[in-house]
Amino acid sequence: MPQRYPRGVYLTDAQQAALIAHINRTWPDSSCDRCRHNDWMAVGYVSMTVTPSPSTVVGGGPSLPTAALVCKFCGNTRLINLKIAGVVTGA
Ligand SMILES: [Zn+2]
Repeated sequence: MPQRYPRGVYLTDAQQAALIAHINRTWPDSSCDRCRHNDWMAVGYVSMTVTPSPSTVVGGGPSLPTAALVCKFCGNTRLINLKIAGVVTGA
């Protein structure tokens, strides 16, 4: 199957390794919850803007440092907070 994205788009090798280590340490079952395959691709970053209310749109506001894990078999996509995962530090 052709790879749709280069492995680790926008994540360095060290960040990708830290994210995979976090998943292996914290997920009791790392297989995909949709298809049960266990072949994930780490793709970062996904910008999740934080707003003060559900109907507010803020340009340039704070965002959560997030990366996407994409199941390479079915495309199921999970978002992982990179601060909690210890992949990024600071603000
Ligand atoms: Zn899947």
